[in-house]
Amino acid sequence: MKNIKKGELITTGKAKSLYETNEDDFLIMHYRDDTSAFDGKKIESLEGKGTINNKFNAFIMEYLESESISTHFVELLNETDSLVKRLDMAPVECVVRNVAAGSICKRLGLEEGIDINPPTFEFFYKDDALGDPMINEYHIKSFGWATEEQVKQMQIQTFEVNNALKKLFSDAGMILVDYKLEFGDYKGKLLLGDEFTPDGCRVWDEETREKLDKDRFRQGLGDVVESYQIMAKRLGVI
Ligand code: ADP
Ligand code: UDP
Repeated sequence: MKNIKKGELITTGKAKSLYETNEDDFLIMHYRDDTSAFDGKKIESLEGKGTINNKFNAFIMEYLESESISTHFVELLNETDSLVKRLDMAPVECVVRNVAAGSICKRLGLEEGIDINPPTFEFFYKDDALGDPMINEYHIKSFGWATEEQVKQMQIQTFEVNNALKKLFSDAGMILVDYKLEFGDYKGKLLLGDEFTPDGCRVWDEETREKLDKDRFRQGLGDVVESYQIMAKRLGVI
């Protein structure tokens, strides 16, 4: 888009900032180096993370569009910024899991690494103060976080993303373990919003099962940004 100008800062999240633009329907999403885990209890700035995530997200969103999944992504503006459609976000996180890891292991006493077949789906309520509690679709409808149709669409589209990305990662020698998506309304249509980056998914090397995603930060394994770059190189992002 021509002549887009960055306006006022409207939101500062844990890893990204959103700015108004001179067009009401569009926002600038700025990817920062800030990295957080455990609902914001562990925070660090990791040099270069904003840049790699901005490029990673652009690549994935464009790939999803090519697979007929509608997203908020418009275009890359520079190293750390992307232009997106302004969405009315549902305060809900949609998680699909192909392999057991993270919170489901604790919650259900599962061994990390076992296959989940068929892949399973979970909703979480986006509220750091409450620790993003797990919720079900009745909560979403009863408390007005999204409509019945939006709930259905979130489930359908999150699984469509799984079909598209499981293959993309597997063709590059990686396992897509799990991921989190967020959706929002744009003029009556539900679009995939927020980001798809190594901050919001788990990805393992297919051979060694080495963790390449934000678990490196959560678990203090080191080489976090380097690992995001390895993932990006394997997919052809950079
Ligand atoms: P947090 O996890 O702290 O919310 P982020 O740093 O990821 O952090 O912040 C991004 C914020 O922007 C989130 O609240 C997200 O729901 C919101 N958001 C993502 N995409 C859009 C969009 N297209 N329009 C409006 N808000 C969005
Ligand atoms: N996730 C996320 N943001 C959150 C919570 C989870 O991006 O606020 C992602 C996380 O990176 C993983 C998936 O969602 O890919 C499932 O996370 P899980 O429920 O296992 O929670 P965790 O133990 O990672 O907090």
